[in-house]
Amino acid sequence: MKQYDVIIIGAGAAGLFCAAQLGQNGLSVLLLDNGKKIGRKILMSGGGYCNFTNLDVSPNHYLCQNRHFVKSALSRYTNWDFIALVASYGIAYHEKELGQLFCDESSQQIVDLLQAECEKGKVDIQLRQAVLSIEKFTNDKSANFFQVQTACDSFQTENLVIATGGLSMPGLGASPLGYKIAEQFDIPIVPIRASLVPFTWKEFDKPFAALSGISLPVSVTNREKTFVNQMLFTHRGLSGPAILQISNYWDMGETVEIDLLPSESIYDILQELRQSSPKLQLKTVLSRHFPKKLVELWFEQKQLEDKAIAQLSKANMDFLVNFIHHWQFLPNGTEGYRTAEVTMGGVDTNYISSKTMEVKNTQGLYFIGEVLDVTGWLGGYNFQWAWSSAYACAMGIAER
Ligand code: FAD
Repeated sequence: MKQYDVIIIGAGAAGLFCAAQLGQNGLSVLLLDNGKKIGRKILMSGGGYCNFTNLDVSPNHYLCQNRHFVKSALSRYTNWDFIALVASYGIAYHEKELGQLFCDESSQQIVDLLQAECEKGKVDIQLRQAVLSIEKFTNDKSANFFQVQTACDSFQTENLVIATGGLSMPGLGASPLGYKIAEQFDIPIVPIRASLVPFTWKEFDKPFAALSGISLPVSVTNREKTFVNQMLFTHRGLSGPAILQISNYWDMGETVEIDLLPSESIYDILQELRQSSPKLQLKTVLSRHFPKKLVELWFEQKQLEDKAIAQLSKANMDFLVNFIHHWQFLPNGTEGYRTAEVTMGGVDTNYISSKTMEVKNTQGLYFIGEVLDVTGWLGGYNFQWAWSSAYACAMGIAER
């Protein structure tokens, strides 16, 4: 049976980066993945340009039941460390908005970087190797070792790293193996759900589907957070960065409040115009501030009545303020794992060392990346968690 110092399951962002670090520290590393290619999610990420990290990374950009858990790893391997690595490969990048860093050319450059780093570390990458099960044994020196079973091979190691990611995008190789392994070792799973995910329409909101493709800046708020960014109407519901961000903080059955004109007050606009141009029609005024199709829909659906703005009563004005600045949107649900960028919840971090990612009661077993109960905001934070948790784990094993 083939033996390695370390076996890593999952050649995504976390698994590749961890493998490279370990290999470069002189350990023999086997990296197994069920797919035909490495880093498939990286290739899809950031619209093909990979938002690989953010200029402003702090623990506040992460959701985790154990809120201090991410601190150690994020400070040991920072966004600046990864930015320096990207720069050392001559990869040109740019800030899109809100500190989000993207490759100028293509996500493939990040995959190539990780592959080159793995080659430097002589990592044995084996693709099309779906791991079916693992078993733990204790050898005569009382050390744990793990046997990893794939469809056609079995391997042994004293250090097993689970980097199998979450359940989002099943077409890219997602599997529940990581959660099953956690359960096998009595580690609880914080309930999982699709996140960074679009909302779907309830029946009564379906007329908005006609606006599919229209995007506008909004502010979206719920009991916990407010995000100001673009919102996109789709055939199925609402999407865009503002919506994806709030989905991290949303529970089924809750409404979110959407301000469709976050940088101005419709009340002030109308009051001013009532003095200067009282004969202007409401529809004309609204069309100056919102996409035409949206305004047309409001009037078609009889949500608003067109009249000269001088004739707007106080009740009309209050209605408009509420309607535009306080849209109470009740999602039917989300699009689920099919389109979600991440899986919220996962392996309970109370059972994991925040310094090394090792399971506290099982020596030699590690969890890194998205399989853990750590979810970042949209904006490069999930990849940064992959790099930072992978590095913590690699150093934990290498320094042993
Ligand atoms: P993954 O990258 O999911 O890797 C897990 C690997 O394990 C996969 O290759 C899978 O095939 C393999 N695997 C699973 N089960 C088995 C098994 N049984 N046997 C063998 N192998 C197995 N985050 C950002 O920060 N910036 C972005 O721009 C961004 N864009 C995204 C765009 C999309 C469309 C999606 C879906 C996600 C995006 N994310 C982004 C999130 C980010 O991709 C993930 O958080 C990150 O990839 C998690 O890394 P990981 O290594 O933990 O898991």
